[in-house]
Amino acid sequence: MPYVVTQSCCSDASCVVACPVNCIHPAPGEPGFGQAEMLHIDASTCVGCGACVTACPAGAIVPDVVLSEEERPFEALAAEYYDTFPHADRTPVALVPRQRRLRRRGPFRVAVVGAGPSGLYAADELLKHPEVAVDVIDRREAPHGLVRYGVAPDHERTREVARLLEAIARQPGFRYRLGLDVGRDVSHEQLAGEYDAVVHATGASADRRLDVPGADLPGVVGATALARWSNGDPDLPDLELPPAGSRVVVVGAGNVALDMARLLTGPLVGARQVVVLGRRGADVAAFTTPELIGLAGLRDVDVLLDGDPPAGTGVRARLLADLARRVPREGRPRIVLKFHAPVAEVVGTTRASGVRLADGTALDADLVVTAIGHEWTTVEHDRGRVRPGLYVVGWAKRGPSGFIGTNKSCAEETVAMLLDDLDAGVPERRRDAVSRIR
Ligand SMILES: Cc1cc2nc3c(=O)[nH]c(=O)nc-3n(C[C@H](O)[C@H](O)[C@H](O)COP(=O)(O)OP(=O)(O)OC[C@H]3O[C@@H](n4cnc5c(N)ncnc54)[C@H](O)[C@@H]3O)c2cc1C
Ligand code: SF4
Ligand code: SF4
Repeated sequence: MPYVVTQSCCSDASCVVACPVNCIHPAPGEPGFGQAEMLHIDASTCVGCGACVTACPAGAIVPDVVLSEEERPFEALAAEYYDTFPHADRTPVALVPRQRRLRRRGPFRVAVVGAGPSGLYAADELLKHPEVAVDVIDRREAPHGLVRYGVAPDHERTREVARLLEAIARQPGFRYRLGLDVGRDVSHEQLAGEYDAVVHATGASADRRLDVPGADLPGVVGATALARWSNGDPDLPDLELPPAGSRVVVVGAGNVALDMARLLTGPLVGARQVVVLGRRGADVAAFTTPELIGLAGLRDVDVLLDGDPPAGTGVRARLLADLARRVPREGRPRIVLKFHAPVAEVVGTTRASGVRLADGTALDADLVVTAIGHEWTTVEHDRGRVRPGLYVVGWAKRGPSGFIGTNKSCAEETVAMLLDDLDAGVPERRRDAVSRIR
């Protein structure tokens, strides 16, 4: 009975080391790891031991016999992956890398600014060293960053990763300092004076603005704001949403755009029709195939493709062709994917009433949601080191890309640089510094 990885995989590779026959790929260190949309189990070599199930923080792995009809494409996706990348060498990894030890005795204090997944993975990596204590600071009263306020409420298994983040925070040497905004409540200089090293894990969670006329009208909402609203973020000012039965346009065609389409047609908002607009073709759209499988499998919503599906015989092309053939049923909410549809203008006088596409097509809408990525200001760094004593990790380091699990290998890289600097004795903390941080 082979096992199958499903949509909620966040690519943290915890399962890889648990597998006794090395049949989960791409593994860390192999080409494609970090960019892969998810990890895949090779059905032809999986011995069905179930060890990976226990290792997975997202509950993403299931035996093939429990897959629903809508989840079956995940089997085909894995088969397609191994046809292209056979991974001929299956020497069991049982990768337990030798634990690095610090040469200097410490004790060391490290501040991690940001309690999202990247900050907590960094803390976890640091706490493998008993000489190091870690304070994780966040301006919010509740930790976990976008895992709490970004990940869609219906991605329940993905949200399970919070249990892993909670376990990290229970380790000796870990301390939270929540409700503390670095830059406002405490200065960067103060932190630098009081800690041996400071790691910025502050993310990049401001929505990128749609750069067309009308984009600032009321009735245009960023996807992250809507995601925060749907997750009950107490810090969010009230969002003015249209009543149930409305029409919505979502600009953008990444995974977050698909999250928005599900959310808007779901019971929380109750939209009648959501049109998801991709600037370019469906074959190059940013959404991942696992998320498309999840969307196509919705039972209470008609999901359709407006236009020709891309050519090809792969799982993605087959799914899109299936969506193009579907016939909508009267009275059901509808999600329509439309590609080659760049938006030229948001239309409306006092409030957005629709969009006009570059080819002149007009689409009416009671709400326009922008899901075109995030604002991000770059900081120069070398593998996470900005300078000795100051580091970046996660979205603050790589920009807004990758999955939750991508932040784990990202944190390992940054912490390796930090440990090198601690070993080299730079910079020296002012041991006489008196804590002024509450
Ligand atoms: C809407 C949305 C849905 C997503 N869904 C998924 C999904 O289903 N699966 C998946 O794998 N990935 C998903 N992602 C991506 C995933 O959330 C990110 O990869 C991940 O959260 C990035 O982690 P981070 O720690 O770098 O940043 P964040 O999670 O943004 O954490 C940053 C933290 O820093 C804190 N902070 C910022 N500035 C300061 C300051 N000055 N002082 C103190 N604290 C500060 C913030 O309060 C926040 O808690 C989604 C992203 C978005 C936006
Ligand atoms: S069930 Fe066992 S053999 Fe199969 S992928 Fe999981 S750990 Fe590997
Ligand atoms: S979430 Fe992690 S442990 Fe689970 S299947 Fe994906 S890579 Fe493996």
